[in-house]
Amino acid sequence: MTDLNERAAKADAEDPLAYLRAEFDLDPRVVYLDGNSLGAPPRRVAGRVEEVVREQWGRRLIRSWPELWWDAPERVGEKIAPLVGAAPGQVVVADSTSVDIFKVLVAAVRMAPGRREIVVDAATFPTDGYIAESVAELTGTELVPAVVDDLDDVLGERTAVALLNQVDYRTGRLYDMAAATAKVHAAGARVVWDLCHSAGVLPIELDALEVDLAVGCTYKFLNGGPGSPAFVYVPHRLQASFRNPLPGWGGHREPFAMAPSYEPAPGIARARAGTPDILSLTALDVALEVWDGLDLAAVRAKGLALTGFFMDCVDELLGKAIEVVTPRDEWRGHQVSLRHHQARELIGELTAREVIGDFRPPDVLRFGFAPLYNTYGDALRAARTLAEVVSAG
Ligand SMILES: *Cc1c(COP(=O)(O)O)cnc(C)c1O
Repeated sequence: MTDLNERAAKADAEDPLAYLRAEFDLDPRVVYLDGNSLGAPPRRVAGRVEEVVREQWGRRLIRSWPELWWDAPERVGEKIAPLVGAAPGQVVVADSTSVDIFKVLVAAVRMAPGRREIVVDAATFPTDGYIAESVAELTGTELVPAVVDDLDDVLGERTAVALLNQVDYRTGRLYDMAAATAKVHAAGARVVWDLCHSAGVLPIELDALEVDLAVGCTYKFLNGGPGSPAFVYVPHRLQASFRNPLPGWGGHREPFAMAPSYEPAPGIARARAGTPDILSLTALDVALEVWDGLDLAAVRAKGLALTGFFMDCVDELLGKAIEVVTPRDEWRGHQVSLRHHQARELIGELTAREVIGDFRPPDVLRFGFAPLYNTYGDALRAARTLAEVVSAG
């Protein structure tokens, strides 16, 4: 126990990213381990959102659209681009992840006439599977659920597109993007990566791996705030053939010409649909400033160290009382999932003690570690509180 205390204190004292915690408005009594569901607010966000409401909206009124707002989806996309290994002009922020998955899947099927199957990770986050099923029905294709380790069994000349998650939201397992992308490409199909649980906390190389399409969430580790819009990646080489199934005026070549027929914008803007959500985009825009000058390799290293330390604490304080589901090798994201038959009740008891994780049915306790603001002390307190709650029955 003292050994764990010492380890936590030493690791926090030596943490090169420790200074970033002060950027966040966190309640000091709370151990917040749910940044993979809703990131914590950077302090700088509230004032800037208020300024947009008071000045840009309140004073400039509709003049702010052409002056400041209309291009925000591309401008904020350019801030996300370096976090996912994308050169400029390939990322736009628009709509929700669910809506964007719909857009990119339909677009991918349209790019592959004659190929009639959509492969989807069978363990995916529900919305991805629901949307893929609807896309299959609407496009007359077939949905093929797959175990990601056995992709070779399902990929073939019928495959139009495979929708994969870089990090499994339930187990925290990290998949090998390079290997899976190569497999999908070897079958002549396109790959869509869902980056909801990886964007912002580990180095991602979309361009270098020749990924075809990607989507990701901004209110998790990117701290954009509740419901902040998602991002879409369409590389230059596919933009001309990207046909958006939601061809709203926002993606039009000349939105303000009010033309009777749709003509897509030449670049990434064609992935937009309607009017952007400026207040949420503002919060995200400001939240992304925290990444300025940050080295994602250092963020990744801290995420691995924090989750590794938490697993050590769980081993020592809980032993066989709980099962660690998340891989112990480096093929894990920035969460640790534990399995217990009373998971729901345990999460309730932890929350009552100001340790916030979350429950994923049927029996998983999930703890997300945000390298920008979580500490080794947080990890120890969470494990210690969990041990108390478990031993109290
Ligand atoms: C969080 C998450 C989503 C969220 O989709 P919304 O449209 O924002 O509700 C989708 N897919 C995955 C894998 C997620 O983790």
